Amino acid sequence: MSFLSHVECSVCGHCHDPKQLLTVCEKCGQMLVARYRLDRVAAALTKEDLQRRPPGMFRFRELTPLDDAEQPVTLGEGGTSLLRLTRLGNHLGLPHLLAKDEGQNPTGTFKARGLGMAVTRARTLGAKGLMIPSAGNAGGAAAAYGARAGLPVAVVVPRDTPEAAVAEALLAGAHVFTIEGSIATAGKVVSNVAPQLGWFDLSTLKEPYRLEGKKTMGLELAEQLGWSAPDLLLYPTGGGTGLVGIWKAYQELAVLGWVKDRPPKFVAVQAEGCAPVVKAWVEKSPVTTPWENPVTRAAGLRVPSPFAGRQMLQVLRETDGDALAVSEAEIVEAQKILARLEGIWTAPEAAATLAALIRLRDQGGLDRRGRIVLLLTGAGIKNAPPPLPPPVDLTGPAATLLERVRSALGL
Ligand SMILES: *Cc1c(COP(=O)(O)O)cnc(C)c1O
Ligand SMILES: [Zn+2]
Repeated sequence: MSFLSHVECSVCGHCHDPKQLLTVCEKCGQMLVARYRLDRVAAALTKEDLQRRPPGMFRFRELTPLDDAEQPVTLGEGGTSLLRLTRLGNHLGLPHLLAKDEGQNPTGTFKARGLGMAVTRARTLGAKGLMIPSAGNAGGAAAAYGARAGLPVAVVVPRDTPEAAVAEALLAGAHVFTIEGSIATAGKVVSNVAPQLGWFDLSTLKEPYRLEGKKTMGLELAEQLGWSAPDLLLYPTGGGTGLVGIWKAYQELAVLGWVKDRPPKFVAVQAEGCAPVVKAWVEKSPVTTPWENPVTRAAGLRVPSPFAGRQMLQVLRETDGDALAVSEAEIVEAQKILARLEGIWTAPEAAATLAALIRLRDQGGLDRRGRIVLLLTGAGIKNAPPPLPPPVDLTGPAATLLERVRSALGL
């Protein structure tokens, strides 16, 4: 049975009917949020019930917007590991360091959760085609779930989007368009064309259900921590769905009475070349302003004017959080340390969280005994690797083989 009660505007509170395909608030154009009858969820579901269900994001069905008999469009998203980073923690002097490795999702990023949920709902509610502006990974995931749902998909990405994400979308049969500029330019194209085609616009937070998919990261994290909250959560922030989603998970779990802790302090991490949230945070502004000339190799962070800037900043304020931007060099260095000490080849966006953590530690203000979670949003393999030395080639005379190997090993 569905526990969704209604979908309301995050700013003016106007109620919308979830039986319709919804986009943004029909009154004021702001972001919509799904609301549940949480008292009924609390009466119908126990933590023990959950334990008996298989892993994956639909085990939290009562906290998803799915109708009674609605079949999810799924590739097995969710159920990602919460990894204890012992060696990295020792290296940094942080004994309780953890990573939620969202690179383990189908399509290699947490975008699978959001698009899995949004495509499920869009199909059920009668969408005949899907269109999405993307920095890469969202487009790839939309294409994959669209293929799974049997719906046509069009993706609009900046020209310099990572190759693997473009290939992923093309392979899944999506129509891929490129454009000069950033995801903001792509977004304008989609909002112009999609309504005229009668296709559904899946832009970040311009429909209410990608958020509900990403919320399941927070539900899982809480469960993996024995229904508690970490002290600090570092999140690589582009459009902000994950940040707002994890926070929403902790809000709902508090109402259910399942988590007694206050929610984690959220740290929004951005790249120095595109940091509208950090800028607004530092200037104590309640809203973001468009970032001119966004440049960063972390494609998912190249979001110059996030639609939900206001909501992200609210999460940072309410959790006594922080926002900081890191350099491209710091991102590459963090990517290398994480791989070398823990074996995780993470995406540049995700590596930015470690770069930010190192900064916070070096600056002092960090509680080193606290439980810290890095939200690793994607797998490194979806991006061009950082510059690396070439492998040593062993072709040549057998007589000198051992010598050459020894010298390469430094023995
Ligand atoms: C999209 C993306 C982000 C940014 O996520 P938001 O929820 O839009 O803030 C971060 N990392 C990766 C790998 C992404 O694909
Ligand atoms: Zn409104």
